[in-house]
Amino acid sequence: MFEPQRIPLAHLPTPLVKLERLGRALGGAEIWMKRDDLTGLEVSGNKIRNLEYVVADALADDCDTLVTEGTPQSNHCRATAAVCARLGLHCVLLFRPEAPASPTGNHLLDVLFGAESRSWSREEFSARRETIVNTTLAELHAAGRRPRWTPSGAAEPLGCWGYIRAMRELTQQLGEVGIARCDLLLAVSSGATYAGVVLGNLLVEKPAAEVWAVPVSDDVSYHVANVGRLCSAAILRYDLPVEYRDELLRFLDGYVGADYAVPYPAALDALRLLARTEGIILDPVYTAKAFCALLDGVRARRFGFDRPVVFLQTGGIFSDLAWPELLVG
Ligand SMILES: *Cc1c(COP(=O)(O)O)cnc(C)c1O
Repeated sequence: MFEPQRIPLAHLPTPLVKLERLGRALGGAEIWMKRDDLTGLEVSGNKIRNLEYVVADALADDCDTLVTEGTPQSNHCRATAAVCARLGLHCVLLFRPEAPASPTGNHLLDVLFGAESRSWSREEFSARRETIVNTTLAELHAAGRRPRWTPSGAAEPLGCWGYIRAMRELTQQLGEVGIARCDLLLAVSSGATYAGVVLGNLLVEKPAAEVWAVPVSDDVSYHVANVGRLCSAAILRYDLPVEYRDELLRFLDGYVGADYAVPYPAALDALRLLARTEGIILDPVYTAKAFCALLDGVRARRFGFDRPVVFLQTGGIFSDLAWPELLVG
């Protein structure tokens, strides 16, 4: 097994905390949270773990520019822009849909970090994505830059190392608080986090977590193919001593709502409940939807009673600031 280089940027280990008040409010359930929203401030959230590896690779290749993609409220774009500013790299963000004229939330931070952005409509970007990316890279090369591309969520085999490593960290913490078995829930979209969690769980000596992914975009068959592709590619590239099978993947389906980044009332209720009982803020795109699945499971006594349930809090607080009307309800 060959472990690639990383540049330490996240504050690790992130805390593993018990949600005492929420557990009591839900009839005595044992609910824990792995606070990966606390990996940093500007670089907060799950994406920074993956970017630690991607940026190390970029610097080793003497690149001076990172290019990536997402929505204007993308946490991944904001974390990439922050990392670039911190390391003196240029950052180019390819947005879909078009960024609004007055930036808010994550997009406002992108602007402050000095990231350059270009936008397309959702339809045009998805129809011409490869051409758009290649043209951007060619233009940057022509302008004398040395760009490195990473897709949304740093969902490339190298990016999976963020959560391969995080599972080592979490498994050790679970041992320290005496949890031998638990359920672990997380949101899945680009798939890099879930792929890393699955591989990391196979690689630790004594896996403690049974992992459940909650799709917040696309359907389960898409995620099986996408996460499977990432896992298999990472195993091959890094010679990981594990075997991947689709049966390793488990999903809690039914929490996407109308679409990616379209919040719904139950998710917003989950967000407000956690804010009021624990003083912890979820986001309307990812974590509130995944937390909805956790709450439903706890209320049905499927999670949190026979054994503890752990929520992977992947961050996203800045996107809340882009939806004030929605969140106050
Ligand atoms: C990106 C993101 C996720 C999903 O992670 P993927 O690796 O893209 O599947 C979950 N939560 C938050 C807050 C995110 O920004």
